[in-house]
Amino acid sequence: MEVKVLGAARQVGRSAFLVTHKDSKILLDYGAMTTKVPGFPMHVPPKDIKAIVLSHAHLDHSGAAPLHFLGGTMKLHATPVTSELSNILIQDFIKISGQYLPFEFLDLMAMNSNTVNHGYMEPFQVGDFNISFYDAGHIPGSAVVAVEAGNKRILYTGDINGEETNLLAGSWKNLGEADMVITESTYATADHPHRSKAEGEFVDFAREVVERGGVLLVPAFSVGRAQEIAMTLVKSGFRHPIAMDGMALKVNGILLRYQEYLKDGAALRRMLETIEEVTSWTQRRRLTRKPGVIVSPAGMLVGGASIFYNEHLSMDEKNGIAIVSFQVPGTPGRTLIDKGLTIYRGKPTPVKAEVRRFDFSSHSGKSALLSDLKGIGGSPKFLTVHGEEASCLALADQLHSDLGVEATAAMPGQDFTV
Ligand SMILES: [Zn+2]
Repeated sequence: MEVKVLGAARQVGRSAFLVTHKDSKILLDYGAMTTKVPGFPMHVPPKDIKAIVLSHAHLDHSGAAPLHFLGGTMKLHATPVTSELSNILIQDFIKISGQYLPFEFLDLMAMNSNTVNHGYMEPFQVGDFNISFYDAGHIPGSAVVAVEAGNKRILYTGDINGEETNLLAGSWKNLGEADMVITESTYATADHPHRSKAEGEFVDFAREVVERGGVLLVPAFSVGRAQEIAMTLVKSGFRHPIAMDGMALKVNGILLRYQEYLKDGAALRRMLETIEEVTSWTQRRRLTRKPGVIVSPAGMLVGGASIFYNEHLSMDEKNGIAIVSFQVPGTPGRTLIDKGLTIYRGKPTPVKAEVRRFDFSSHSGKSALLSDLKGIGGSPKFLTVHGEEASCLALADQLHSDLGVEATAAMPGQDFTV
């Protein structure tokens, strides 16, 4: 089999790989760079490709996929949760960035009608390839993809989290043997603080803010993080009001239908019974005046209702803002944590609310990632991708020195053979 790296490799964004065996070709992910003007992977002639196989729904893995389906014969293979989540994320992408995208709703509809769903460990055939999904523990429906052809086996981690969270059980540990592993490297150089520490500190901060009469805004991604944050509060016995807004509510509906993809469906249902769902502007205005927690996309304050809440809450020192995910440079969320500035009435203004950061990552830290990768049998060669350049290089070095195998921080356009 041959693997060509089509997207960003020593970088996060627009993940895409072309896998070829004899006359069969498939794409593993075809993501977008979700910068203000989005970026895309290298072009491949769609008539040669049999299918796109998606590791998970995040736009940096799925966002350019609709390009290929209108009028063609290509199929999309994914877990059912990934299909539904990528559909709503791409709809939102078209709404926000439509003028920059080389596709539209019609293309997305063509993709949806050519989608074939598969559960974890339900192997399926595409041309010469035998393909299986294993739980990657990253977001609901996320998969490590195993591709077999001609007696060779490639594992593609997509994004992976080896450790359990409130929402997910962590990645599947028995990935078998492989000849090549394409691995993400997002947090390959550092370990996260212990999850219970991050959870404890976050819940303490939420209590502190609400008990001094303030409102805590938690800008959170709609897929996974918003649910994880609310579930963390509910599990801790938090007695104050928790509200959730925006696309996270749509995601809740999808997760309710696919509870078998979660660690504990009952914990999700308990959370949903506890929170207030926000659907109107009257409700939003009322919530900004009443002590409690508001969980709302967008996670980096770039859009959605979190902008409204930020405008109404950030100029009062009794309120709080909890940043619970990585903030991309250049986003309002990043400016808030780096410079303490927020956009208020159209101008960058020093924030008065208390801003704190908490590590709720959905990617394995260094030790968990190495332990998952070292658990793979067959002395595979490794391609390290999907991380800052330093992370990809460090992970490749570490794998080479610990395991004595070939390990490369792959570059876009490079070809590899197994
Ligand atoms: Zn992801």
